[in-house]
Amino acid sequence: MSKSIAIIGSGFSALSAACYLAKNGNTVTVFEKNETIGGRANQLKKEGFTFDIGPSWYWMPDVFENFFNDFSKSASDFYQLDKLNPAYKVFFSDETVTIGNHMDNICEEFERIEPGSSVPLKSFILKAQTNYNIAINKIVLKPGVSPFELVTKDTITRVDQFFGTISSQVRKKFKNPKLISILEFPVLFLGAKPNKTPSFYNFMNFADFGLGTWHPKGGMYEIVKGMKNLAQNLNVEIRTNSNVTKIIVENKIVTSIVVNEIIMKYDIVVSGADYHHSETLLDKPYRQYSEAFWDKKTFAPSSLLFYVGFDKKIKNVNHHNLFFDTNFEKHAQEIYDNPKWPDDPLFYANFPSVTDETMAPQGKEAGFFLIPIAPGIIDTKEYREHYFEKIINRFEKITHQKVKNSIIFKESFCINDFIEKYNSYKGNAYGMANTLSQTAFLRPKLKSKKVNNLYFTGQLTVPGPGVPPALISGKLVAELIKKHHSN
Ligand SMILES: Cc1cc2nc3c(=O)[nH]c(=O)nc-3n(C[C@H](O)[C@H](O)[C@H](O)COP(=O)(O)OP(=O)(O)OC[C@H]3O[C@@H](n4cnc5c(N)ncnc54)[C@H](O)[C@@H]3O)c2cc1C
Repeated sequence: MSKSIAIIGSGFSALSAACYLAKNGNTVTVFEKNETIGGRANQLKKEGFTFDIGPSWYWMPDVFENFFNDFSKSASDFYQLDKLNPAYKVFFSDETVTIGNHMDNICEEFERIEPGSSVPLKSFILKAQTNYNIAINKIVLKPGVSPFELVTKDTITRVDQFFGTISSQVRKKFKNPKLISILEFPVLFLGAKPNKTPSFYNFMNFADFGLGTWHPKGGMYEIVKGMKNLAQNLNVEIRTNSNVTKIIVENKIVTSIVVNEIIMKYDIVVSGADYHHSETLLDKPYRQYSEAFWDKKTFAPSSLLFYVGFDKKIKNVNHHNLFFDTNFEKHAQEIYDNPKWPDDPLFYANFPSVTDETMAPQGKEAGFFLIPIAPGIIDTKEYREHYFEKIINRFEKITHQKVKNSIIFKESFCINDFIEKYNSYKGNAYGMANTLSQTAFLRPKLKSKKVNNLYFTGQLTVPGPGVPPALISGKLVAELIKKHHSN
């Protein structure tokens, strides 16, 4: 198979697809509209501080390792990976819960909060592990072409887990609201509320407690650099500042793309940009999904983000910190059911320089704050400032220290930036949620149903949101292309 292939975008899915397609003998060119590659996994460097401006949780190290192994490499050939201990800390209004790096210390912490809870926890995580093996080694490796992909011996015996939800499953086993929140947290990565997420997705709990939380030294951008290195060794050409404004179709076959106003011919086009945006690059008759289709879908939240350089070390925090000191149900309603700016949001704070001295100058701290918000709401400078004040005051109170006077600089990123920088639908941060009706073959397809030789990859198609799924999405689209074009 030797085709000329254009890939739109340079996020994880696009870079992954580029590597696999080049390995299969194709001539691959990646076109990225921005100055730098990596998509949502971008990096901000300022005054000696380094911030990952998108993903910060390195979960499922096996998926990254499998990716690099497919090219006879290992993640360690590109970056140093450290397992974090503790994995993370959760702040509630009256106490703090620390999640360690091993089931033994996690069980101890559960026992402290709800005596006897380590017994159901162990059996819950064991079942989650079985689901993880089925999901990661079998289900997510299917291209989402047909419902029959999901009908296997493993899934038939677990059919109830596709109709029950994580929320009800966790509540049957645990009574303490703090433990319930901690066990519901991992599925938030899938983009929907736990009471809308099938209980089969409890494999995320195994990813959390069983596999642990890792950190690539230097930050998540090291993965992007590693993939770039790999892609270039496979002769992939990467062109930045290359905005694709049109996908040209003749007789239902894609023939070319327009990049910075120049028409360039290709045999095959793969778009790793947001699916909705990618379809707007086509003339209307060639689009598969209407505006009404996208509008009805449950999107993962957007985020209000702050990157803050502090002129001192911050006390009482870990690398990853969740602030669950307000009502999650109310915040979730303000994201999904009645989209508006939340009254009292939960938030996440990341201080990578607590464990990685390369992320901030000596004696200083790099802080990243994230508030999940509804996609599509109005984003203004005033809202951003209002919410920064709100969370930083809560942060000071709950961690027992003053930090406001120690801020050297603060940068923000929100809905308008997601749209402007990444052409993100409604400014979503991490794609289309994985609910029951938006799973596997029910997601937008990898292969266009209307245009030959046009494919899609990324967090709005299969398998879904997150860095590990993006790596898998790139592999799936490359396999599909191989299947359809191998002679
Ligand atoms: C704030 C935040 C926190 C997150 N946290 C985590 C986490 O901790 N762990 C985790 O696993 N995942 C996390 N995620 C999700 C994860 O980052 C994404 O799922 C993943 O990076 C998406 O990759 P992608 O390849 O689908 O798309 P993207 O990264 O969006 O890449 C698409 C690329 O296409 C480019 N593009 C768009 N239009 C055009 C055009 N017309 N021409 C050329 N190029 C174009 C864009 O500029 C972009 O570079 C987070 C995401 C965000 C935003």
